[in-house]
Amino acid sequence: MKKNIYLSLLAAIFLTASLFLTACGSGESDDDRPYVVATTMMLEDIVNQVASEFVRVDGLMGPGVDPHVYRATPGDFRALERADLILYNGHYLEARLSEILATMPERTFAAAEQIDTALLIEAFEFGGNYDPHVWFDVTLWIQVVEAVGNRLQDLVPDHAEEIASNTVAYVQELESLDEWVRERLNQVPEERRVLITAHDAFSYFGQAYGFEVMGLQGLSTQSEYGLQDVSRMVRFIIENEIPAIFLETSIAPRSVQSLMNGVRERGGHVELGGELFSDAMGARGSEEGTYTGMVRFNINTIAGALE
Ligand SMILES: [Zn+2]
Repeated sequence: MKKNIYLSLLAAIFLTASLFLTACGSGESDDDRPYVVATTMMLEDIVNQVASEFVRVDGLMGPGVDPHVYRATPGDFRALERADLILYNGHYLEARLSEILATMPERTFAAAEQIDTALLIEAFEFGGNYDPHVWFDVTLWIQVVEAVGNRLQDLVPDHAEEIASNTVAYVQELESLDEWVRERLNQVPEERRVLITAHDAFSYFGQAYGFEVMGLQGLSTQSEYGLQDVSRMVRFIIENEIPAIFLETSIAPRSVQSLMNGVRERGGHVELGGELFSDAMGARGSEEGTYTGMVRFNINTIAGALE
């Protein structure tokens, strides 16, 4: 008898706990504010910056998650079903979510696809037509912020004015961030402005701030790299006396380590410049878990290793 009571108590605790977990992860809530789901942390952060009081937001991809190969979990499907608005990057960044996103056109908003394509880097060999990594040029990201701000005003018309003024204030913050990035990178001698990383995420960074960028893997981590790619890059690092190369938090360190080993085997020398936040940001609640904090961290890491 005692055992039965104990068991039902356990079952009740378990049930409460699982209901609670489901409610957190999939958009079930007593909160009646509009529910926004963002795929990447960068987009989740925009909502937090300009409309956090007026909507609820969940992000599908956390720190260290690679968007190119990310697949929706059962919890994600429930969240997407309940969402009033789904923000995604687009330009085929979220390759494996594109089919499900295409089934709900009236609720989705491809934030990076709002940028004038004349400003984008073409990439026809990739699944999309343009390089999707627009957040590495702060001025392009400002355009994304403004577009998302407008879309959120449509979603919450009662608070459109507040969202508009939050967006203006945040854009000003990003404009000063862009100035700071330029000043900080000016401390890197011109011949050292070469950024070598695991995959080709930094082309917009290179275009905006005058760096040559090279990734071992292509635009998407779905692409493979071979021994030839490694040895070509090893030769480049040695011939150009590149002082440092960089890991990315959302990609296993293996590929960059093979470059370092290759350089060492040929008697060259290259340092590990550190780990960059490329396609995912830092932990939620930390400095690097915001867009501005992530940019500052990346730029200090790059400049610190190359200057
Ligand atoms: Zn990427």
